[in-house]
Amino acid sequence: MEDSITILVVEDDKYIISFITMFLKDEGYKAIVAETGKEAIALFYANNPDVTLLDLGLPDIDGMEVIRQIRERSNAPIIVVSAREKENDIINALDCGADDYMTKPFYTGELLARIRVAQRKINSMTNPENLEAFTCDNLTLDYIKGLVFVDGKEVHLTPMEYKLLKLLVANRGKVLTHNYIINQIWGYGEVGDAKSLRVFMASLRRKIEKDTANPRFILTQVGIGYRFAEK
Ligand code: CA
Repeated sequence: MEDSITILVVEDDKYIISFITMFLKDEGYKAIVAETGKEAIALFYANNPDVTLLDLGLPDIDGMEVIRQIRERSNAPIIVVSAREKENDIINALDCGADDYMTKPFYTGELLARIRVAQRKINSMTNPENLEAFTCDNLTLDYIKGLVFVDGKEVHLTPMEYKLLKLLVANRGKVLTHNYIINQIWGYGEVGDAKSLRVFMASLRRKIEKDTANPRFILTQVGIGYRFAEK
């Protein structure tokens, strides 16, 4: 139930703290607040929150360092909520192990949606999904046979495209950086670059999307990476 979900809010702006905590409480979440990075790490270990909302610009240590320290011991979802809009900061945070990001100012509805995606991650960690098949609208992946269907008809994917699609679906709702995808698909130290990723992605989209200019399934996060549609 939602009222059992504890959210650690790491933020040094008092106005944003009161806004976020009030909003979370209204939605039935339990919120705890850390105003510095060191306090965040201490509270994280003391309370083991389900989800962490993290501001990157903190008065003591950098938010990036908070992500690293949490990730040394826990895989719990971290959503970066930051005024930094530089793509590099966001990419670094995601590559350090953050699950998602939102830039300020944000809509509360969007924040709730991100929290729901994070909750799904928690559920799938404790309660693995049925891995036989995945269906979203007219797209079906049959994991047992390794086949993909669009409108009930089999589409032929190359092994690389299939791997890519599986990775995106397994992380649906969550943005994956170019680096993350490249490392997962090609492996560390092997040849794989953003350009080849774009080529594979374009080819995959041609096979599964009705309108590649306006994709239904694989969404582009400009400058950051890709996200499989949440619903
Ligand atoms: Ca700040």
